[in-house]
Amino acid sequence: MKISYFQHTLESLTSLFYEYGLHVLDAKDIFKQIYPYGQLDLNQINTLNQEKKEILLEFFDARLPEVFVKKIASDGTLKLLLKLEDGFLIETVLMKYRFGNVVCVTSQVGCSVGCSFCASGLLKKQRNLKSFEIVAQVLKMNQFLLQEGDQLATHVVFMGTGEPFDNYQEVMQSIRVMNDPKGLALGLRHITVSTSGFPAKIKAFARESHGTNLAVSLHAPTDAIRSSLMKINQAFPLVALMEAIDEYQAVSKKRITIEYILIAGINDQIEHAEALTTLIQHLDCYVNLIPYNEVMENDYKRPSEEAIATFMNALMKRGVLCTVRKEFGHDIDAACGQLRAKYAQIEQR
Ligand code: SAH
Ligand code: SF4
Repeated sequence: MKISYFQHTLESLTSLFYEYGLHVLDAKDIFKQIYPYGQLDLNQINTLNQEKKEILLEFFDARLPEVFVKKIASDGTLKLLLKLEDGFLIETVLMKYRFGNVVCVTSQVGCSVGCSFCASGLLKKQRNLKSFEIVAQVLKMNQFLLQEGDQLATHVVFMGTGEPFDNYQEVMQSIRVMNDPKGLALGLRHITVSTSGFPAKIKAFARESHGTNLAVSLHAPTDAIRSSLMKINQAFPLVALMEAIDEYQAVSKKRITIEYILIAGINDQIEHAEALTTLIQHLDCYVNLIPYNEVMENDYKRPSEEAIATFMNALMKRGVLCTVRKEFGHDIDAACGQLRAKYAQIEQR
């Protein structure tokens, strides 16, 4: 298989190029062309002679996955189902906020963490994505934004299908590539990794993330409730998770986002808000409340607007910073994993 340009920073591409008899300036020219839209036409680079072009064509490529399904919601949210080279389908979502254009990327085909509320988790992990397949999702969205005459992707969140910390190396490499000032130049503070809670990786991330944001899917204030929603809590219960978060904060000195899905009758009562406050009040964090996005595959229900407001007020009264996540793409199955779940049976490999 050819080497994708999109798995390299300019620095790593340059050192690789030396092995092929190519020059740092060749790498720079290629970078200038492929970013920010992922398009490459070697004939447009007039500093390349025929010999160099042949080497590049033989060993490298800038191919991107093809769009298999494209859906645009009434609020402007775009969802792409992309077909990878081996036929697997992955989904990528673009959400237009007032502060910028946010791309929600997938990090694995399926997910083996298997949270009971999540459509992605129903489809077991088939494989990890390579760093270039993660970067490619942002490039595909930039192509679309170009057509629309809109500004490019400004933020990336790892909140699509998959558990980023179960694919740690490739995810970290994709972040380095997206952050490269000569490439997409996305600031690390504009990139957020969301994890269901792998303590060892949270600790590693503290040391290696250099300011990249971390969001932890907590979803419950007790082991009993969390284990019923997230199998991973049986392997890594709250003490282990909280210990890792404490270490993350001590090392990174960064505010952390706590994600908390609100599911009617499961974790949305005042007593849960109280227990949550006790669990996290020592942290520098803010809580992102996510009203549950109902999926066909289970019976969990979204709480009423009143219950959501009551829960939020209970946290705020206790001094916890929190927001309720805005909902996007209501009419296009924008919830994590929903679109792919629909098309999974027609994946062609
Ligand atoms: N695996 C990582 C990142 C991908 S999921 C994680 O779990 O954090 C991104 C977020 O979407 C998580 O907080 C997850 O709990 C949430 N999510 C999954 N299914 C959802 C649904 N049906 N409604 C609302 N949020 C959902
Ligand atoms: Fe995997 Fe995250 Fe879905 Fe859980 S919520 S199954 S960890 S993608």
